[in-house]
Amino acid sequence: MKLGAIEGGGTKFVVGVGDENGQVLDRASFPTTTPEETMQKCVDYFKDKDVEAIGFGCFGPIDPDPKSPTYGYVTTTPKPGWGHYNVVGDLKRAFPDTPIGFDTDVNGACLGEVFFGAAKGLDSAVYFTIGTGIGGGAYVEGHLLHGLVHPEMGHVKLVVRDDDPYKGKCPYHGTCFEGLCSGPAIEERWGISAKELAPDHPAWDLEAWYIGQAMANVVLTLSPKKIILGGGVMHQSHLFPRILKYMREDLNGYIQNDAVLHDDHYIVWPKLGDNAGLCGSLALAVDALKK
Ligand code: ADP
Ligand code: ZN
Repeated sequence: MKLGAIEGGGTKFVVGVGDENGQVLDRASFPTTTPEETMQKCVDYFKDKDVEAIGFGCFGPIDPDPKSPTYGYVTTTPKPGWGHYNVVGDLKRAFPDTPIGFDTDVNGACLGEVFFGAAKGLDSAVYFTIGTGIGGGAYVEGHLLHGLVHPEMGHVKLVVRDDDPYKGKCPYHGTCFEGLCSGPAIEERWGISAKELAPDHPAWDLEAWYIGQAMANVVLTLSPKKIILGGGVMHQSHLFPRILKYMREDLNGYIQNDAVLHDDHYIVWPKLGDNAGLCGSLALAVDALKK
């Protein structure tokens, strides 16, 4: 079965063709410019591909509620031109008979890991990307979680560590998860790009302390069976054991569950690696076909 996938990011779009097993057969990418131009490039790519459904995981905030009048829109983004733009509308006009699965990039990536990756077969998992921004997607008892709009787990406030004077990078909340832990936050706090910080730099202990706290909050809120952490910053693989340690310290024995207490693979890197976004969109296409 030929399925289409769009990974819509704030800096670049990746489009591809794959199958229902998450195999990517073809891919292309282009920079995110104006929405008109960018969506037209997506349409041009799929014109002769004859796909049975298209999955579209998009940067947000978006409106993923099919019952809403603004379904398929990018909503309040500060990205010039993209606010209140109907991205799904452009696809629907070009491919009126093709089912389209539309969700946040992180919900897509979460579904991809559930269908094909690190959370395969589980009915509950949470996915975060920790990169330029921080976003989280959740799969709860067999469904992607939306609620009112969609979760924004990258913006929960965190308790600031006593020795950290940093005011945070988020223009809305200062010291929220993203404000404290995104790549740009690390760079602003330490004056050096996250990529160039040595593994023994104190930045990483602080980073793990905050991410551990955020993960404890997620465990307490959603009780996921697996947590997947992707994104540029998580290329620092030494963070994983430190995050687990701090998450457990934060929980302080309150959650008496073997995975949370003892499983070294409770929090993992995406099995789909840097393909997580595109495979996630393939999963959204599979989901759209089912509906
Ligand atoms: P985006 O979030 O824009 O989709 P990424 O997930 O690659 O893209 O995140 C980019 C951020 O991740 C940048 O702030 C960069 O400093 C940081 N980053 C990228 N690679 C690494 C690395 N190997 N180690 C630490 N930080 C990294
Ligand atoms: Zn915030």
